[in-house]
Amino acid sequence: MEIIFIIMLFCMGTVFGSFFTLAVYRIPLGLDITHERSFCPNCNHRLEFKDLIPIFSYLSLKGKCRYCGEKVRIRYLLLEVVSGLVFVASYFSYKLTFPFFTIEQISGLISFVLFYVTNSIILGIDKEYIQINKKVLLFGVICQTIYMLFLYTFEKISLYRYGIYLLILLILFCLDTYYIRRKSKNYYFIQILMLIVYELAFIDNLWIALGSMIASVLISLIYYIYKRSKKQTKIPVGFGIAISSILGVLIGNIII
Ligand SMILES: [Zn+2]
Repeated sequence: MEIIFIIMLFCMGTVFGSFFTLAVYRIPLGLDITHERSFCPNCNHRLEFKDLIPIFSYLSLKGKCRYCGEKVRIRYLLLEVVSGLVFVASYFSYKLTFPFFTIEQISGLISFVLFYVTNSIILGIDKEYIQINKKVLLFGVICQTIYMLFLYTFEKISLYRYGIYLLILLILFCLDTYYIRRKSKNYYFIQILMLIVYELAFIDNLWIALGSMIASVLISLIYYIYKRSKKQTKIPVGFGIAISSILGVLIGNIII
């Protein structure tokens, strides 16, 4: 039975994976992400349910649009598979004891899924636009705060450390708003600081936080060297930070 549960988790992950593509495309354009149906960006044909089944649709259509035959990038398929694998990894990372889960395990898993969703959309948008989307970040911070309040109520954790993180975030947010008002321009540096504070608030082990930050510098550098051939001069630092934070949490839970 446990294996069926793990397969279900994998399938849920793939659904999230296909949602990320849509969210990264629509959020920066200010489009609705929940109500409107997906369409092919080439022929504008509305996609039916049978076109939207993660992994299966891609493979059965051999990576092409059903209506115009335009090639669909393999990246979509990979993202769905990776998301499925991350969900399976979180099952082991949060040490779920099938079939009797404790409320701590379930709440830990839900908070990780929300952390993963937030980070994935942030890294996708950062990769395309070199910009940390503050609405998505705010969503992540709200989810995190609810989780911390939950832990405070049920496990009596101290909220002191989390309060400091929230205060720093608030100061950075005010600074960013102030600069935008004055110079009508986004400050990437402040946005990155906000993202780092958000990640640190979730990763409570100092060594894992340090490891994640070093990994994020490495990932950003590798990505930069890879992209330099295409004359891209700006580095999507948030992309590296988000990936290494997800990995940091998954690996960190197993070590501790
Ligand atoms: Zn098409």
